[in-house]
Amino acid sequence: MIAPKFNIGSKVWVATTSTEPVAIMCPDCLDKRRWECALPNGDRLLIPCSSCEGGGPRIYTHRPRTWEGTVGSVRINTEDKQPVSYMLTETGVGSGSVYYEESVFATESEARVTADALCVARQKAVAENLLTNIMYKRRNRKGGLVGHLRNEIREVERRLESLRSHLNTLQNPVGA
Ligand SMILES: [Zn+2]
Repeated sequence: MIAPKFNIGSKVWVATTSTEPVAIMCPDCLDKRRWECALPNGDRLLIPCSSCEGGGPRIYTHRPRTWEGTVGSVRINTEDKQPVSYMLTETGVGSGSVYYEESVFATESEARVTADALCVARQKAVAENLLTNIMYKRRNRKGGLVGHLRNEIREVERRLESLRSHLNTLQNPVGA
């Protein structure tokens, strides 16, 4: 038989983290948003930094957070990985946040230990996601300069095609 640690009306301490968005310096352009490329013939090209598309990189940084709440409902579901969960009056009972037994504690100091561990794990995930995201952008930009030049060439080719077509129409008018 599963016995919940807390009952309705119990005061509990919740272990969690708070987040705050932080803009970080782009490792690929050092926040210049552009790359200046010098070609062997002396030409200089300014190309947009593809790692900065849609603004520079941003991460959410976590801080350990504990707060005291009051159990408003207790739920036991043996199908869940963690069978006991609570809803707290402060965040809504019936609809609101669900707190599993692993994140609620009798004392603030116990909650603080878990909040610290959660924070470390979440910060690690943030760093890994950032790295994955940057590596993804680097892999997908087709060599930065190469991709940019290919686009420029395609543009010029489209323009040439259009000019040739006009020229052709002028030189060979329909019905002449
Ligand atoms: Zn950048």
